[in-house]
Amino acid sequence: MKPLLIVISAPSGAGKTTICDLLLRSYPEISYSVSCTTREPRLNEVDGEDYHFLTQERFRQLIGENMFLEYAEVHGNYYGTLKQPIYDVLKEGHAMLLDIDVQGAEQVRRTVSKLPQTDLMRQGYMDIFINPPSIEELRNRLEKRGTDDPEVIEHRLENAAAEMERAGEYMYQVVNDDLRICFQRVCDIINIKGEFV
Ligand code: 5GP
Repeated sequence: MKPLLIVISAPSGAGKTTICDLLLRSYPEISYSVSCTTREPRLNEVDGEDYHFLTQERFRQLIGENMFLEYAEVHGNYYGTLKQPIYDVLKEGHAMLLDIDVQGAEQVRRTVSKLPQTDLMRQGYMDIFINPPSIEELRNRLEKRGTDDPEVIEHRLENAAAEMERAGEYMYQVVNDDLRICFQRVCDIINIKGEFV
């Protein structure tokens, strides 16, 4: 594995979490970027593993110190990705995986593209969008999962359609029709990109 900065986005229900978990299990040299947030931890969430849980004051301080590669306000809470842990991993020659939404990915892409050519983040940057086979299939999956009310499902489907319209902004796209094949494609993309870094 080379020092890659791997950004993966997908609409909710497209299988992103499963693919990211498989990647982390298959490649011990890929680290997962733990985001910062100001929201309260949910039951079972561990500080430093699921998120770094910060106060609003601390988060704003870090914004002021330009510590974030990207950040956003979602439902009244801040979420953000710290730069330093990414550089620490890349400097070791390892890869960092960022599981972020389309807006976060756009910010990262824009910031990284302005870095010097010699910057480790710029050299190792790659992004992948995971598409569901179709909106109808996504609807089936979300209904089968049974965790969301019908209105929530409709809202997620609208968001998914909007995100899928932006899939072309990514360097690579895969379709998660068959999980095994999709995961293999993601591995192939990462392995090939790794050859050129
Ligand atoms: P949750 O509170 O359910 O864990 O996440 C809420 C939203 O925040 C999700 O859409 C998730 O993708 C987004 N999010 C989580 N971490 C980050 C981050 O580091 N940066 C950005 N921009 N969004 C994030």
